[in-house]
Order: sequence, then C-alpha cells, then structure tokens
Amino acid sequence: MVVRTRIAPSPTGDPHVGTAYVALFNYALARRHGGQFVLRIEDTDRQRSHPASEKMIFDALRWLRVSWDEGPDVGGPYGPYRQSERSEIYRQHAEELARKGAAYPCFCAAERLAALREEQRQKKLTLGYDRQCRGLDPAEAARRRQAGEPHVIRLAMPLDESMAVRDLLRGEVRFERPQMDDQVLLKSDGFPTYHLANVVDDHLMKISHVVRAEEWLPSLPKHVQLYRSFGWEEPVFCHLPLLRNPDRSKISKRKNPVSLEYYRRAGFLPEALLNYLALMGYAMPDERQEFSLPEFVGHFALERISLGGPVFDLEKLRWLNGVYLRKLAPRELLERLRGHLLSDEYLLRVLPLCQERIETLEDFFDYAGFFFSGEVAYGQAALSAMVPQGRTPAETAKMLSSLLEEKIDRLVEWTDAVIESELRAFGESAGWSVKELFMAVRIATTGRSATPPLFETLAVLGKETCRRRIRKAADLLKLHHKDAKDTKITKTVTS
Ligand code: GLU
Repeated sequence: MVVRTRIAPSPTGDPHVGTAYVALFNYALARRHGGQFVLRIEDTDRQRSHPASEKMIFDALRWLRVSWDEGPDVGGPYGPYRQSERSEIYRQHAEELARKGAAYPCFCAAERLAALREEQRQKKLTLGYDRQCRGLDPAEAARRRQAGEPHVIRLAMPLDESMAVRDLLRGEVRFERPQMDDQVLLKSDGFPTYHLANVVDDHLMKISHVVRAEEWLPSLPKHVQLYRSFGWEEPVFCHLPLLRNPDRSKISKRKNPVSLEYYRRAGFLPEALLNYLALMGYAMPDERQEFSLPEFVGHFALERISLGGPVFDLEKLRWLNGVYLRKLAPRELLERLRGHLLSDEYLLRVLPLCQERIETLEDFFDYAGFFFSGEVAYGQAALSAMVPQGRTPAETAKMLSSLLEEKIDRLVEWTDAVIESELRAFGESAGWSVKELFMAVRIATTGRSATPPLFETLAVLGKETCRRRIRKAADLLKLHHKDAKDTKITKTVTS
C-alpha cells in the first residue's frame, strides 16, 4: 500500500501550533514509508476563510521545513487542492448519495430548526435534527426540489442504537444514537460542509491514513458512514491526543502562545520546535529527548503514540531551544539572527520609522529597542500613563482585554490601514476616545509614550508581538488595580 497522508488546515486564522503538530506526524508517517504528504486547504467556510491566512500557513510550514509533495502551490495529480475550487465535485457526490437514498433533501426552515434546538436545550437533550424530512415521500421531495424550494442535503445516519468505528490508537470506539446526527452535507447555497468535502477529498486524493487532532473524533461516525454509503474503502483513522496547557485544559491562547507566528518571531529554532512537538505523546524507542527530524522519521511508528494528553510546556520548550541554540557555532547563530529579526527585510521596515527621530547611529539602538525585544518592561510611570484621567487601571485592563478578544484576535490581515480602522471602530463602540485608546495601546505595545506613528509601528511589530504585549500590560494593570484598590489615576506621569 502506498502511504499517503495529509494536513488539511482551514485558513481561518493564525497558523496554529496544533497544525504544526499534526503536520509533523503526517509528514513523518509518509516519509517513513516512502509515501506522499499532501497539503489541502479546507476553505469551505467562505465567511471565515482568508487568503492571508492561507499564506501564513504555507509560510509557517515552510519555516518548519515540513515539506509537502502535493498542494495548492505545487500542484499534483489529484488537484485542485483548495476546496473552494472543487465545489462541483462535492455537489455531484451529494447528489449521488441522494439518488441512492443514503442522503435526503431537508426543507426545514431556519426558524423551525432554531425552535427545535431551543426545545432540546430546555429539555436538556442532545442537540440534533429530528429527521422530519427523512420520512418525506421521495417523489414529493423531488417535486419540491424542482420547484426551487430552498433545502439542504442531509446524510441518513443508521437508525441503530449505536455504531462502532475504529481508531488506530483507541481500537473500537462506540457512539450512541444521540451522537449520530443526520449531518448536513450540502448547504442551501450549494456549498459543502466540512464533513462531505473532507471525506470526498480524502477518498479522491487516495489518502491512506487520516491522522488528525482528537477534536475530530466525534465526527468519525459520520465520516465512516459516508465511506460506507459511497461504498468506498475506509482509510486508517488515527486521532492524535490533544495538546494541553500545563493545567491540562485544551491548549489555548489564554494560557500558551498558540500562533506559529509567535514562535518564529520569538526566535525558536524550527528544529527545536519540531523536536519538542515530536515529544508530545511520542517516545523514541531509546527514550532520547533530543533528536533531529530525519532521526524522528527513521524511527516513526503511529503505534508508539500514547494517548495521555501531552502537556505543552513553554518553559520546557524554551529550555530545549536553548540547548539547540548553544550548539550553534557563532556564525550559524548569526545566520539565524539574520534570518529574521536582523534580516534586511525587517530592518528596512524598522529604519524608516526611526530615521526622523535619531541624530546618531547609536541613537537607533536606544530608540528602536522595542522592535527587537520580546516583551517590554513597564515601569510604574508607564503603567500609570496607560490609564487616562478619570478612568481606573481595572477599566483600562478590561478595555485592553476586549480589544484583544473582540478585534485583534479576529484580524487576519495586519496592515496599518486595517489596524487603524479597527482601532477607531473599537474605540467608538467601547466608549474610549481616540486619544485615550491610542495612548494606552501605544504604551502597552512599546513600553513608551513617544514612538513612531502608531499604526505603522504596530504593523511592523506584527500581530503576535502586539498581542502578547497587550496581554501582559492588561495583566499588570489588573495587579496594579489590586494594589491600588482601584483608585482613579489623577496624576499621570509619562515616561
Ligand atoms: N479542516 C480541518 C481542520 O482545520 C481538518 C480536520 C481533518 O484533518 O479532518 O482541522
């Protein structure tokens, strides 16, 4: 059997460390067996998918040197590899299932489904479709479709009490009837849902092993049912354990940086990050902790993955990165620095922002330090200056947190124009004047009250760096709030 694996990210946000983790294991499996590793872009969610996010995924995986053999950028025999370019294929497959009676049109209006959900919620039942349209006379359903009545196509799940499916690491997994909803396959606009597109593509792209994150395990009965309905051979399914925060909750940006942009900007070495990710749920036969990608590939076996939720511990990763850094010859270290923070590309973005404001070359280092550091230090004066007259540190902390959650986290494009319009819109909705808001953001992101133009500065710093500095500033202001018993700041000292 030719081993073919894939990573199938949705380009809906920043490239996630979990994507790198899943990509690494798929890559290793394919390389170990001389097979192929495919990159497929799952952009069926038209509202949330963004080309900028797709580009960041490519860049991040390239930076990690987890290379793919087929994908939207390199092509391949089973393309296109971007789902938005395959709509017709999914539509035909949904029709095929409908013809076979393995799927059916559902005409239920959104209001009916909402009322149903509400009722289920109140009765504390598992949410799901009540299969009203499954009983429609096929001739009647065909007539209504012909007449152009809006509808979706749903998968007819088995009506058995339970269903058993196989996962390589878990063996037989049984799902009970309430977990086997009649999933929508094709939406009323003719676009597929993830489930249909994912299974059709895995089959057409001849994927032999579906290795993906554990959060997709509940979808497995639907996927297996799709394979059975089409009469296709199932691939091997293997759901990787979820990465966890040190408190064992699912890895989240509140407790750990999850964007690969963070790791790149902070100067983690790709080989150290891969080594660390490989240790998540995996042990080399000789228990060695440090190994290269080729060594990992050379020993890789899916069966060696253990299911106890691996803890992603940033401190341990930092330590490992330090070990890798210390092994580099000074010249190699220089190359690494030149690869990013000291690259001409980055310096040529920073310098124009500083040129107006320095008199000697050495001034540059003093003035521009915050463009190169990770977090910035906030003295008491800087913290105070973040809090406008008449507002409290707690209010300011809350505002900065909402700015992160409501705006910054949702932004995919990070240009000065976008930043400016989003900040202004946020200020208006949150009731913060432009002057108050910009000063708080300026100090939070740079540690100082006098900087080059704010939006350009934020654009050059990058979203991840801004995000972590704003988070830290908000956390410190909260502490400040405790110490200061939430008194209003009346005297502001700018640094
Ligand atoms: N598009 C899904 C994701 O973003 C892919 C899940 C799968 O690998 O089946 O994670």
